[in-house]
Amino acid sequence: MQVSLLPAFVDNYIFALDSTEGTVVVDPGDSTVVERHLATRGSRLLAMLVTHHHPDHIGGLAALSARHPQARRIGPRDPRIACVNEVVGEGDHLSIGGCNFEVMATPGHTRSHIVYRCGKQLYCGDVLFGLGCGRVFEGSPAQMLVALDRMAALPEDTEVYCAHEYTLANARFARMVDPENAALAARVAVVRALRDLGQPSVPTRIGLERMCNPFLRCDAPEVVAAARRQTGSDLVRRADVFAALRSWKNTC
Ligand SMILES: [Zn+2]
Repeated sequence: MQVSLLPAFVDNYIFALDSTEGTVVVDPGDSTVVERHLATRGSRLLAMLVTHHHPDHIGGLAALSARHPQARRIGPRDPRIACVNEVVGEGDHLSIGGCNFEVMATPGHTRSHIVYRCGKQLYCGDVLFGLGCGRVFEGSPAQMLVALDRMAALPEDTEVYCAHEYTLANARFARMVDPENAALAARVAVVRALRDLGQPSVPTRIGLERMCNPFLRCDAPEVVAAARRQTGSDLVRRADVFAALRSWKNTC
């Protein structure tokens, strides 16, 4: 399937996956943006995949469901997500438009957050971002770390489709935590050049994030040292280092 990034709101991306059979959209926060894509392609809507209940991810569901009643509406079990008619969770597989999706449960940002893998593509909602990660709104930092660890364990050429264009904004904090990281410095230069041209920094890749993203480097000595300096405590467990980084980032 061919992936298109549909910018929405200030910095969201809705992803449209097109095949000869039709279009699958991920996190359709805005129905207008999706309708425009379908009209341009002359494509029919096959399915809507939802990662979590936040309005910028589900805002277009009701209008799209009304206009495309044949489309499958897939998401996690959560009463806050109306319109979903196929509930999925950890380990479920979906076959849509010639593509097989695997579902992973990734609580932390929200308690019912899920992500979808399709071949080398990962649609991760608000869990992992370029050089950052989502805020921990409903789960615990330890839960969020488990979710991030599972993504970090995916093959390094996995393409990471994050739902927001946050990479450059995240770069500032990443450089603060990990200033000697040459791979990070190189990555920031590439992202800055892309953004100067109005190009997206998404998708990123797992291998790149493993080298550059401080939240995936909670056992790197320099990252641990930075978190210890910031908190003035020992931070023996990885989860404590992660929690310290996440709180620190919230204040920046
Ligand atoms: Zn969210």
